[in-house]
Amino acid sequence: MGELDWPNLPFGYIKTDYNIRCYYRDGAWGELEVSESETVNLHMASTCLHYGQEAFEGLKAFRGKDGKIRIFRLDENAKRLQSSCDGIMMAKMPIELFTEAVRKVVKLNERFIPPYESGSSLYIRPFLIGTSAQVGVSPAKEYLFMIFVTPVGPYFKGGFKTSPVVILRQYDRAAPLGTGIYKVGGNYAASLVAGEKAHELGYAAVLYLDAKEKKYLDECGPANFFAIKNNTYITPISTSILPSITNNSLMKLAEEMGLKVERRQITTEELETFEEAGQCGTAAVISPISKVDDLDENNSFVIAKDGMPGPICTRLYQKLRAIQYGDEPDNYGWVTVLE
Ligand SMILES: *Cc1c(COP(=O)(O)O)cnc(C)c1O
Repeated sequence: MGELDWPNLPFGYIKTDYNIRCYYRDGAWGELEVSESETVNLHMASTCLHYGQEAFEGLKAFRGKDGKIRIFRLDENAKRLQSSCDGIMMAKMPIELFTEAVRKVVKLNERFIPPYESGSSLYIRPFLIGTSAQVGVSPAKEYLFMIFVTPVGPYFKGGFKTSPVVILRQYDRAAPLGTGIYKVGGNYAASLVAGEKAHELGYAAVLYLDAKEKKYLDECGPANFFAIKNNTYITPISTSILPSITNNSLMKLAEEMGLKVERRQITTEELETFEEAGQCGTAAVISPISKVDDLDENNSFVIAKDGMPGPICTRLYQKLRAIQYGDEPDNYGWVTVLE
């Protein structure tokens, strides 16, 4: 390959050398297989194509100043995939097999891990699909687990900055007792119309409300929501939010910085009281929110008065990135160093 333009990579697909595959047949997972092919051969009646039996994960590997490769919260991603599999009745990938597969695919594609200075990283996308033929609605008997990796650029190319989000009451992403707590493709299909509409209107994301009462904040499409006020980190509690591993990590770091942490319902009225707010997830770590526009109610909640990321969001962002790149000690055992 010609040298990639590391600092300017998009968040998109770039072909790498290898991917990993593992098949579940006759009630058991097989061996990890290494493939150079970018395509899969599927039965046209596979359950993933008709009934949405698909779950995925997203995590990153980073190259440190010391040249070492670090994978962030590998075990948590393994566990969350298992939870997603339970949620839509798919065979579960054993934790050890998952972690072995991630290590292997990262190692095999080592030359695609961006250098430390670029601020870029290697995005890892494990996913699991139902592959056996089924016409009546029921879970597949066979599954395919795969992982591909792709180098991605820093989320903030021109530096850490804020962006606006929007409340659109005519759309829901997930139902209160539905699949919102699982990382499944179906939730994303359900969010595409609202997401595209938000982008057309100039917003970075939709801030969803709870689907039942339309009263409480839920999450932002592909990222969790949190806010800061009175030295407190506040994030919604709900039965339709995906448990973000970034959010979980930020809560720990906020506590460590002396903030109080609250997981509770947040009403839309409370928006005007926030000193800072952000979206959080693997892609950006934190994407600070400038304002929340509630178009239906003709309301605009300006959160970042000067349009700049607030001091606590900035500290949390820098701290988490420093742990990921190995610039600061990994006090919680979040990082897997690849030898
Ligand atoms: C993946 C995801 C997130 C972020 O989770 P992280 O583990 O922090 O990357 C948030 N919301 C939804 C709906 C997601 O799918």
